[in-house]
Amino acid sequence: MATDQSAMNELHWLIDMVQTIEVGLVVLDRDYNIQLWNGFMENHSGVSPNSIKGQNLFEVFNDLPSEWLKQKMESVFLLKNRSFISWEQRPYVFQFKNYRPITGRADYMYQNITLLPLASLTGEITHISIIVYDVTDIAINKLQLKSVNEQLETLSQTDSLTQLYNRRHWQVCFEKEYERFARYGEKASMIMIDIDHFKAINDKYGHPAGDKVIQSLANILKQSLRETDFAGRYGGEEFAVVLTYTTAAESKYFTERLRKKVEASQVVYNNQIIKMTISIGVNDLSSATTSSESWLSGADKALYQSKENGRNQTTVFEK
Ligand code: GH3
Ligand code: MG
Ligand code: MG
Repeated sequence: MATDQSAMNELHWLIDMVQTIEVGLVVLDRDYNIQLWNGFMENHSGVSPNSIKGQNLFEVFNDLPSEWLKQKMESVFLLKNRSFISWEQRPYVFQFKNYRPITGRADYMYQNITLLPLASLTGEITHISIIVYDVTDIAINKLQLKSVNEQLETLSQTDSLTQLYNRRHWQVCFEKEYERFARYGEKASMIMIDIDHFKAINDKYGHPAGDKVIQSLANILKQSLRETDFAGRYGGEEFAVVLTYTTAAESKYFTERLRKKVEASQVVYNNQIIKMTISIGVNDLSSATTSSESWLSGADKALYQSKENGRNQTTVFEK
C-alpha cells in the first residue's frame, strides 16, 4: 500500500514536471496523432493540449517540413534508435516566435530536437517522443561570432587605402591560381602596374594628394575587372592583377584600355588637377612558366622594360 502511494506520488510529480519544464515534450502514436503536448509546447504554439489531443500533428501544423520529418521519424520507429536534429542543420522544426529580449534579433526560436522511440510494455515501439530544446541564445551567439570572424578575416585581407587585397592575401590567391594552371592547364595572365614618376606627384602636391592618386587608380582598376579576376596593392603605388582565363594578347588589350583610361582621368585635390600615367608588365602562363615566382618575376621584368622604353605603355614578357 505504502509503495503504491509513493509510486502514485512519483507519477504525480513527474506529470507536474513534464508540464512545467522549459523543454518541449510531445508524444505521437504510430500515425502521428498527438498523445501528449506539454506546457512548453502550449505556451509557444498557443495551442492547448485538450484542443489537439488525438489529432494528427501534420494536420494541426501544416507548415511543418512533413516529408522530411516523417522520414526521420519512420527511421526512429524502424531502427528503434533515437535521432537528433541540430539547429545548424535546420534552424527550427516548430515555427515558434522568439520572445527573448536579449536575442531579439532572431525572429524564430532556434531548436535542437531529439526524436526518442518509446517502447510499450511488450517492447514494441508504438510511440515516438519529440523533445524540443530552445537553443536561441547559443545559436545567436555562434552566428554573431561567425559574422565577426568573417568581418575580421576580410579586414585582415584588405588594404585600407584602396580596399583591394593587401599584398599577403593577394599572394595567397596568386599561388592558388598558379596551382590551377599547374594541375589543369588553366590559362591566366599576371599584370604588374606602377605609377609613373610618382615621387614627383608626392613632391609637387604632397603625400595626401599622392594617396588620393593611388585610390583613384585602384577605383579605375576595380571598375575594369571581372568577377574572377583579382587585384592587390603590391607596394606603395604598385598593383598586381591576375586576369583568369586570359592570354597575353587579350591581357594587352585589357591593359591598353586601362592605361588610356588612367591617362584620360584626373584627380582633383585642393582645387588642383593632378594627372598620372602608368606603366604595365604582362606575363601569361605557358610551359615556360615553371613556378609562381617566375610567373611574377616575368611580369616584373616586363614592367621594368616599359619604364626603360619611356613609360606609359604595356610590355608583354618575352620568354
Ligand atoms: P617610376 O616612374 O620609375 O616608377 O618613378 P617613381 O617616382 O614612381 O618611382 P617609384 O615607383 O620607385 O616611387 C615610389 C614612391 O611612392 C616612393 C614613395 O615615397 C611613394 N609611396 C610609397 N607608398 C606611398 C603611399 O602609400 N602614399 C604616397 N602618397 N606615396 C607613397
Ligand atoms: Mg612608380
Ligand atoms: Mg614603384
